[in-house]
Amino acid sequence: MITGNMLIGAQAVAGAGAPVYGIDPSLGTKIEPAFHGGSQADVERACALAAAAFDMFRDTTLEQRAVFLETVADEIMALGDELVARAIAESGLPRGRIEGERGRTVGQLRLFAQVVREGGWLDARIDPALPNRAPLPRADLRQRHIAIGPVVVFGASNFPLAFSVAGGDTASAFAAGCPVIVKAHSAHPGTSELAGRAIQAAVAKSGLPEGVFSLIFGSGREVGTALVTDPRISAVGFTGSRAGGTALMRAAAGRPVPIPVYAEMSSINPVFLLPSALASRAESIGKAFVGSLTMGAGQFCTNPGLVLAVDGPDLETFIAAAAAALAAAPAQTMLTPGICEAYQSGAARLLEHGAVATIAQGQPQSGPTQGQAALFVTDAASFLANHDLTEEVFGAASLVVRCPDLATMQALAEKLEGQLTATIQFDDADIDAARALLPTLERRVGRILFNGYPTGVEVCHAMVHGGPYPSTSDGRTTSVGTLAIRRFLRPVCYQDVPAALLPAALQDGNPLGLWRRIDGVLGQN
Ligand code: NAP
Repeated sequence: MITGNMLIGAQAVAGAGAPVYGIDPSLGTKIEPAFHGGSQADVERACALAAAAFDMFRDTTLEQRAVFLETVADEIMALGDELVARAIAESGLPRGRIEGERGRTVGQLRLFAQVVREGGWLDARIDPALPNRAPLPRADLRQRHIAIGPVVVFGASNFPLAFSVAGGDTASAFAAGCPVIVKAHSAHPGTSELAGRAIQAAVAKSGLPEGVFSLIFGSGREVGTALVTDPRISAVGFTGSRAGGTALMRAAAGRPVPIPVYAEMSSINPVFLLPSALASRAESIGKAFVGSLTMGAGQFCTNPGLVLAVDGPDLETFIAAAAAALAAAPAQTMLTPGICEAYQSGAARLLEHGAVATIAQGQPQSGPTQGQAALFVTDAASFLANHDLTEEVFGAASLVVRCPDLATMQALAEKLEGQLTATIQFDDADIDAARALLPTLERRVGRILFNGYPTGVEVCHAMVHGGPYPSTSDGRTTSVGTLAIRRFLRPVCYQDVPAALLPAALQDGNPLGLWRRIDGVLGQN
């Protein structure tokens, strides 16, 4: 049952701040109960509990921590349809999508359990002592990674399960051994409470200290900033707007002890249509592109918001096919009234822009909180001259840029801000153009994909869902996939530490059976 309470350690706590209600965006109605925001005292208590839990939690065995992650997954599944129904009501997303997202959420928790057990993330290294080395002997040096400390996670609006309370940031922080305090997204408070209760139950069942997890409601500016600036917090995971992410980066950098903020923010995910691919299949690319653009009402961080191609008859064929597909696309319910308004004003800005023409609009709205898909076109010179055309419009809107030639397309790629993805539509005859583009894209984006579409992010070992600023605050990492654990780790070196005091990962005889680097050579010894 959803109570409207926050979860601070093992307690359910009624907030005293302004009430927040879930809104059913498909009806435009409030959903009971009210969720009252947390106070400074609630933040204080959650941070104190997290700090008190940290040493015990990070010292759990690999097996204990893996079982904890699996227990969180089991508890989420045990919520059954209550979780699915509440997430549908609070997000307007269809059942299939929410059920799929729940599968992804438990899948990534279980994947991180495997990662924890395998232990490669400890990156254990041993450089044995060289007492007879001349002119100076070498000490015994051993290195492993440890958890960074308590982490604050800001749930995302657009993935109420997989990027929220029990989502990828929380899973990777737990895997590293970090207690987590989640600032719930106000768009789905009931879903947040349910997922939070599942984690709270898993903490208790696993015999872990209560401070391993807390969930707090309230405004980002107040509660969120108070959490990020608390001296006991060591890192932040965030998905949302550039304004929100950069505000938190400033708050974290302004602390007496600055901490890292891993913020995943805006991206327009350019799609490059190379000439031979366009010549052979402009029509099918146009249709498939619109499928990707309109999926989930365009509310994906990897939504393809920009198309670059050399002008000519083949681009006209693409535009005609995309226009026909888009014109038939129904308006879709968006996540929140605020996100819908932001989309409508972003699309209106392009609609009225002097340097932009409208190719097509989707079906008009037939209910509240709906976004109408839209496709626009401009030319390369206008795109270069109008920086506002590079800004993300979060929703199903995209801009086609007519380039006079491949060199201009490449020059535009060079001017783009950092992006999560870049897509190349390619046929074999485009090999030279693609080869010329790749070094630029490697510098500009986190994931380069060929002959596909950027929406749909696999949770796996090789995924990078990150990219240079401003797509994220730190392009050296990812927020999806197993590499995400690195954000919440820190290396520690042990020099001449007595054997009895060494952590198991670094002991002689390799009691954990880890792959370790001994004198630089990787082996299971
Ligand atoms: P948001 O407004 O950035 O909010 C995300 C979280 O950050 C919320 O918990 C919010 O708290 C908090 N927050 C926002 N501004 C803050 C500030 N100045 N200081 C401290 N905390 C702050 O993002 P959103 O609500 O998810 O969506 C709004 C826009 O974000 C969308 O229109 C879209 O442009 C963008 N977005 C992008 C992606 C992406 O992956 N690229 C994904 C989702 C959204 P409150 O509860 O107080 O709002």
